[in-house]
Amino acid sequence: MKVAIMGAGLSGLACGIILEQNGIHPTIVENRRDVDDRFVNGEIFLNALSAPINDSIAYFAENYNIYLQPVGNIKELIIYSENEKASIKGDLGFNVIRGRRNDSLCHQMKKQLKSKIIYNAEHTYEELLKEYTHIVLATGDGAYSERLGNYKRDLTVSLKGAIVEGRFDPYTTIAWLDNTFAPMGYSYLIPMSNTEANIVIAYPDYPQNNQLDINLLFERFFQRVQDNLQQTLKIVDDFQITNYIIGSCDKPRIGNTFFVGNCFGSIMPFLGFGQHTAILSGVYAAYDLCGKGTYEELIKTLDHSYKNSLALRRSMEKLNNQKFDVLVKSLNGSVGKILLDYNKIDYLKIIGNLLKPIISVTGNDQTHNNLP
Ligand SMILES: Cc1cc2nc3c(=O)[nH]c(=O)nc-3n(C[C@H](O)[C@H](O)[C@H](O)COP(=O)(O)OP(=O)(O)OC[C@H]3O[C@@H](n4cnc5c(N)ncnc54)[C@H](O)[C@@H]3O)c2cc1C
Repeated sequence: MKVAIMGAGLSGLACGIILEQNGIHPTIVENRRDVDDRFVNGEIFLNALSAPINDSIAYFAENYNIYLQPVGNIKELIIYSENEKASIKGDLGFNVIRGRRNDSLCHQMKKQLKSKIIYNAEHTYEELLKEYTHIVLATGDGAYSERLGNYKRDLTVSLKGAIVEGRFDPYTTIAWLDNTFAPMGYSYLIPMSNTEANIVIAYPDYPQNNQLDINLLFERFFQRVQDNLQQTLKIVDDFQITNYIIGSCDKPRIGNTFFVGNCFGSIMPFLGFGQHTAILSGVYAAYDLCGKGTYEELIKTLDHSYKNSLALRRSMEKLNNQKFDVLVKSLNGSVGKILLDYNKIDYLKIIGNLLKPIISVTGNDQTHNNLP
């Protein structure tokens, strides 16, 4: 068996680590100069979104000997809407770094791998097919899956983010549900240390959003962050992503090609979370290659979560700012506490049920945003 992994990101590296643990040494091709050789950003593992697994970091260590070190754990999640604020406290998850930093998640995973990674690789999938018996497609987007006619694109998203300097509580992550600067989307602040944080707006590229000026929206958001934090922040780096594809594969495997990570559709449409599922999909593909399971079977639960998450996103997109206020107000009370009990509940169901009466308060609202 000769295995090639295309893409040394979360899913590709996870696949490589598990293959090596089982005596298979893959060839890994990466088209950048190094792993995670891109803009720096903060990302989070949110325990409630990986239920029934309530600690991704411990889960990967104990079950798969994949060791990840977060930059911090999340003890509080603050959610702002236009006029309301909710605070949810508990062991909520972890902050991690991605991009060009030695402590980034992919650099940590690379150190656990012995197989050589071929950087600046220009191999096409078709070339790899000629040389290898099995290919794991882990390029972080749906482009190849789409080209192979194996992908359904559900939406694309525009994102703009910045690294800001200021004073931050490293244990508190903040989210904003406000159409004024993230129409039909969301915005967040992830602390990377006491003095550095990543702020981001993300919204879907629907026709009604096409005329929007992302820089103007980001300026509004930046002002709101500073108002809510009551301090002046300094932008030290920024990034922008257009056309970030969210979709999923029809078939997780075609012949001897495995689709993992975003190539499979591991990114959850609701809030764009995908780290946990990307790593798991890489592990599952490796299990199949090692004769320890069947990829199509193992991946089924992730596919199910994707569909639920998409339904939830569509519900959220219907909310205007008044309805976000109602939602955030209810999150501040007992509903927030129920959400923390992630081991016993299906969070998607709970939030879905919560949204139903809010959506129906004034009927099906098609005027989504409160843009002036
Ligand atoms: C701004 C932003 C914020 C996010 N925040 C969160 C978050 O807070 N929590 C969360 O869970 N998820 C988050 N995500 C999603 C998460 O980053 C992804 O789900 C995850 O990285 C997907 O893993 P992957 O292995 O599919 O792709 P990646 O980790 O992106 O890896 C793909 C790799 O393939 C390489 N590659 C691409 N094309 C080729 C090619 N032709 N040949 C060889 N190599 C190639 C790339 O260079 C890259 O190294 C966020 C995403 C973005 C963009």
